[in-house]
Amino acid sequence: MDQTYSIPFNKPYMSGKELHYISQAVLSGMIKGNGNFTHKVHELFKKKFGFENCLLTTSCTDALEMAAMLIGIKEGDEVIMPSFTFVSTANAFVLRGAKILFADSLADHPNMDVSKLEALITPKTRAIVPVHYAGVACDMDKIMELASKYNLYVIEDAAQAIDAYYKERPLGSFGHMATFSFHETKNIIAGEGGMLVINDQQFFERAEILWEKGTNRAAFFRGEVNKYGWVDAGSSFLPSDIIAAFLYAQLENLEDIQRRRGEIWHYYKEKLQVLEDEGFIKLPVNQNWTTNNFHMFYIVCRSLDDRSALINHLKAHNVLAVFHYLSLHKSEFYQNKHDGRDLPNSDFFTDHLLRLPFFYEITEEELEYVVSLLFSFFKGTN
Ligand SMILES: *Cc1c(COP(=O)(O)O)cnc(C)c1O
Repeated sequence: MDQTYSIPFNKPYMSGKELHYISQAVLSGMIKGNGNFTHKVHELFKKKFGFENCLLTTSCTDALEMAAMLIGIKEGDEVIMPSFTFVSTANAFVLRGAKILFADSLADHPNMDVSKLEALITPKTRAIVPVHYAGVACDMDKIMELASKYNLYVIEDAAQAIDAYYKERPLGSFGHMATFSFHETKNIIAGEGGMLVINDQQFFERAEILWEKGTNRAAFFRGEVNKYGWVDAGSSFLPSDIIAAFLYAQLENLEDIQRRRGEIWHYYKEKLQVLEDEGFIKLPVNQNWTTNNFHMFYIVCRSLDDRSALINHLKAHNVLAVFHYLSLHKSEFYQNKHDGRDLPNSDFFTDHLLRLPFFYEITEEELEYVVSLLFSFFKGTN
């Protein structure tokens, strides 16, 4: 679909040795899961970000499902998360029978308003699932404090939050578990791919078993048991080593990728500042506790009509900009299950937020063109 636009919203890219590593994996004679490149990726994440344990998965969606299984979510349990998030954040828990209590966003950022969480906690609450929108950290000190006060699990949906930090500590290292995505729209990509980070070691042994179809095969290959068998209810959550090979090449170039994304982000921010100063749009804000990992660049429009007209203006010039989540509490699937609370900030971002084209290989000319189209839309000039 994107291919019909001269400037798409996103474009997957190779950063260096992706194809080389894939052929290396194939020639090594082993491309099933949990192979050499999978180990290399696990080690790299542990070393670079200090995660205790990681398991690559076929998606962030799968990692979230593993987390829900590991904390034993069952019928009637309650889980708190933002309404302004991707469906997978909620599906993982709904699939295991949980009821979701959706929290509203902050007024000036799509992240959950942490001051509203305590009122949502009941004796049935089992977990809080913060989503670090656009790689911007939720207020993790407050969330972890609430979790320990009420004895709740925290599963960070860090799908967008690779190489992002809260008070200098990497996102994904706070919750009992955390999940990342390497979908082609994220900073570091593998087509489809994800990772479960396990910070609370009580979950690791079972995580590895669920990952390998409910068997202790991983322990068997390490020589810890002399035969492997069915020891739990599990599934197949591990990706082929081909995916890990592609991902490893991307991770080797993390710094370069992040440097380029930073340039793109700052270009938009500087050029569009005038439009914010004149009241046409709002630009993203960062709380002082968080870094920016340059996952996306969004603007906040004055109205839904304004946003629709702008999308059409860009489309007419072959540029694709896209809005983001539709509040989950108003979705066709969940609206009748939602407890009825209004979540005005979540709805606000549903209607007003617009993401501009953003990918590693976008050129200066393309960026200039996108910016010029925003100016011609708002100011009638070219
Ligand atoms: C991308 C994303 C997901 C899903 O990731 P997949 O790897 O595609 O399963 C989940 N949550 C959030 C917040 C995301 O941005």
